[in-house]
Amino acid sequence: MKALVVGGGIAGPAAALALAKAGIESEVLERRPVVDPGAGSWFTVAPNGLDALEAIDVLEAVRDEAVPSRANVMYGATGRRLGTVGLGRPLDNGLVALTMKRSWLAARLEREAERRGILVRRRAEVAEVTDAGDHVGATLTDGTVLSADLLIGADGVHSRVRQAIDAQAPAARYVGLTNFGGITRHTPIANDLESEAWHFIFGSRAFFGAHPTPAGDVVWFVNVPEPEITREQRHGTTEEEWARRLLSLVQGDAGPAAELISTGRLELAGDSTYDLGHVPTWFRGRMVIIGDAAHAPSPSSGQGASMALEDAVVLAQALRDHADLPAAFAAYEKARRERVEKIVAAGARSSSSKIPGPVGRRFQELMLRFAFRYMITDRSTAWINNHRIRWEDRTSRPELVDQ
Ligand SMILES: Cc1cc2nc3c(=O)[nH]c(=O)nc-3n(C[C@H](O)[C@H](O)[C@H](O)COP(=O)(O)OP(=O)(O)OC[C@H]3O[C@@H](n4cnc5c(N)ncnc54)[C@H](O)[C@@H]3O)c2cc1C
Repeated sequence: MKALVVGGGIAGPAAALALAKAGIESEVLERRPVVDPGAGSWFTVAPNGLDALEAIDVLEAVRDEAVPSRANVMYGATGRRLGTVGLGRPLDNGLVALTMKRSWLAARLEREAERRGILVRRRAEVAEVTDAGDHVGATLTDGTVLSADLLIGADGVHSRVRQAIDAQAPAARYVGLTNFGGITRHTPIANDLESEAWHFIFGSRAFFGAHPTPAGDVVWFVNVPEPEITREQRHGTTEEEWARRLLSLVQGDAGPAAELISTGRLELAGDSTYDLGHVPTWFRGRMVIIGDAAHAPSPSSGQGASMALEDAVVLAQALRDHADLPAAFAAYEKARRERVEKIVAAGARSSSSKIPGPVGRRFQELMLRFAFRYMITDRSTAWINNHRIRWEDRTSRPELVDQ
């Protein structure tokens, strides 16, 4: 059996690695010419995502430059501490959540896939996918036609494969926040911040996050509540203009945001953030979707990559356990749908808490203190971060419905 995997982000290479472990050949098709490990923003892979990496024996290959993260510490615009939420139970080897560059994880996964003999085609943009009944085909924009027994759409939140499976499939929803990310190198602020923690500030006009690194740097991001930024705006605004705007948004709020922005460098600017909740059809014939293509929690959930990694492992297990594709795809969906949709819903709530509401920030701070004491706690989030997958476990046989 051979699979074509569309997308060389997080889910794609992880799926190829998981398929290899299940004895299934695959090739990854990625439209970008190169995955630059230094590009873009930082993110955190929670223990459940690390566990998925461990299940396919790649954790060691991706962790060396990552920074440990134990908790999210929340503050209000006045500097008042609103609460602390842990990032889950460490793995059995003691490893806690890891913060790293998003593209760095993708680059490492691709490198590891290639090291294990998996073909990763770059500059391979899939223009069309077709299910011919006895095989599936992918046509690239340069005219190349590839075929295989199955096709996995790991092509992200604006997935083409999702649309090919179901022309009525929903599109991603803009969550009302644009994202900016940066780094401030060798700053004394790194020593003032609690180590191995994200510091989140519910500011009066924007949401700010900062994380110190052992090297004495601080990585940070700003979420700005505003209408979706257009491509023209993104390309027509200089880094200095963005930085000035961000500074004006955090001015007056307590905490290190203004100093970190004014002494740091932007690595990501004007990135619109999306989510994608209920996608009714995840598979049809020989095609299936995973990761953000099937369900994208907003970045505020801190779980998109971990969900993509869990999907990759469970899909490979299902293909290992079931002789026919419909049974395997249905087993994968059965194991995954409820969990990922609950996480998308939690991410949507988290995004909206970042947008100052009509009640005003002061009252909102009171509500947030209450929420972090009684509702959003280590205990209430354990089902998200402490989820574990054992590679040996068999996926159960689902009841099949006509697709
Ligand atoms: C700013 C930001 C912060 C985030 N923070 C976190 C966090 O802290 N923790 C967390 O777990 N998640 C976080 N996420 C979410 C996480 O990045 C995504 O959920 C994750 O990347 C999904 O992986 P994926 O492989 O499904 O999709 P992607 O990573 O989007 O990869 C899709 C790949 O498919 C390729 N592709 C698309 N179309 C085609 C085509 N037609 N042909 C060939 N290739 C194609 C793309 O080039 C891309 O490489 C964040 C997201 C953002 C935007």
